[in-house]
Amino acid sequence: MAAGHEAISRGIFEKTRDLLVELCTLSSSSGEPEGLRAVAARLSAELGRRGLACETVEERSGDGDLLPVLVACGPAAGDRSLLLVGHLDTVLPAIPPRVEGDRLVGTGALDMKAGLAMFIGALDLLAARGERAPADLTLVAVPDEEVSGVISERVIRRWSEHARAVLVLEPGEARPGGETLVAGRRGLTEWQLQVNGRAAHSGLAYWAGRSAVAAAADWCLRAQRLSVQGPGRTVNVGRLVAGTTDFVDNLGDSHAFLGTSRQRNVIADRAVAEGEVRYLSAAEGPLAIAELAALAEQIAAEHEVEAVLTTGITVPPVDPRGPGEALVRRAVELGAARGFRLEVEDDRGGISFPNYLVDTSSVPVVDGLGPVGDGMHTRDEWLDLRSLDRRIVLLADLLATL
Ligand SMILES: [Zn+2]
Repeated sequence: MAAGHEAISRGIFEKTRDLLVELCTLSSSSGEPEGLRAVAARLSAELGRRGLACETVEERSGDGDLLPVLVACGPAAGDRSLLLVGHLDTVLPAIPPRVEGDRLVGTGALDMKAGLAMFIGALDLLAARGERAPADLTLVAVPDEEVSGVISERVIRRWSEHARAVLVLEPGEARPGGETLVAGRRGLTEWQLQVNGRAAHSGLAYWAGRSAVAAAADWCLRAQRLSVQGPGRTVNVGRLVAGTTDFVDNLGDSHAFLGTSRQRNVIADRAVAEGEVRYLSAAEGPLAIAELAALAEQIAAEHEVEAVLTTGITVPPVDPRGPGEALVRRAVELGAARGFRLEVEDDRGGISFPNYLVDTSSVPVVDGLGPVGDGMHTRDEWLDLRSLDRRIVLLADLLATL
């Protein structure tokens, strides 16, 4: 009986590999609408055969193009669905894939056609075991994750509104003796500091001036030092423009001053710094911004200038100790029961699918469920095919508990 099961699993792994090779043959970089539609159609055919109702909806991208979004729903999908998320697009147009031993070298093999193929393999494995995938599952695959992400963000926000949990099929990472899942993603808040000092002639009235350059530079240094190693916040000054008001406020023309003697004899009265703070827990964002604002007040007093901090866009974090923690732990335990060691990434960099959820503080999410490899976004991108097998089993096991 056990040997029979093994043969069935092996057959499913083989079929999934074949499907993945086929998907990698279809060129679907973010700028290839026809290729994206072809991948959506190929997946729809497979998913439809497995009882999911598939629809490809055209959505308007950041560039105004119409691009396909694949939505595949289980028989009871609707309110409170189990949402699975992936993307159809790759960074590079495809070149023919090839299998080298346990590796599939192919464009988008790792990021993330394997995650999509894995889902189909997991459905087959569940069916072969006589188990059922959750009837409310919904797969959403978007076409612009690798570029503007305008559609990705909009669509994921919409579908996550009623999700009871979100599974992200992006790749995990290989580690010595194991692989990873992703629990946490930093959020960010953008900020801008404006400093106004007092201009004066640096030769005739040096001590009468109040340098906005010095004040802003002082603030920037101290702001960056508020960064904390490990899970703490990080402050990044992305740019600092400082000089006379003429220079800063007419940068388009005045950049020609650089390298010349012009206005070097002025205590500069204007500076603008811009950057962002990144953090793992929702509470940390406002705290960090409050500290940066307090620092602006302090700098204003010390340098006798005016310094005002304002904030811009905020992207919420996914807290590794948030609602997804139990779900991640369950996945790790299911892996362990099969001898598959999974480490948890509490702090993966970059803004991605989990940050787009309509409410990261209430919806459980686990990311990095897809198989591992290396060379993402390059011509050497490859996927570990044994990892694909393991992850099919993991996803099937996880779906069976949901
Ligand atoms: Zn990806």
